[in-house]
Amino acid sequence: MSFVRDAHGRWSVSEVTNQSTGYCPDASSWPAVAAALERAGIGHPGGFTHEFVFRWCPECAELNVVRERVFVCALCDAELEP
Ligand SMILES: [Zn+2]
Repeated sequence: MSFVRDAHGRWSVSEVTNQSTGYCPDASSWPAVAAALERAGIGHPGGFTHEFVFRWCPECAELNVVRERVFVCALCDAELEP
């Protein structure tokens, strides 16, 4: 997350991403992020500014970051869940 402060001293987030290769949050987790920021009184852009799609490979168990909607394991070429 990138925080910025406006002319009135209010904090907001200018960039927020779901890129976490440890936790691998789905893009659908945005409402929870928004709710937490709103509880803290921090403005936000209304959605992830950089959204990542994670899939675990059913064959080799490797964690994949899906790029350009190609749902194929980068390690073993197995098909990933769309
Ligand atoms: Zn694989």
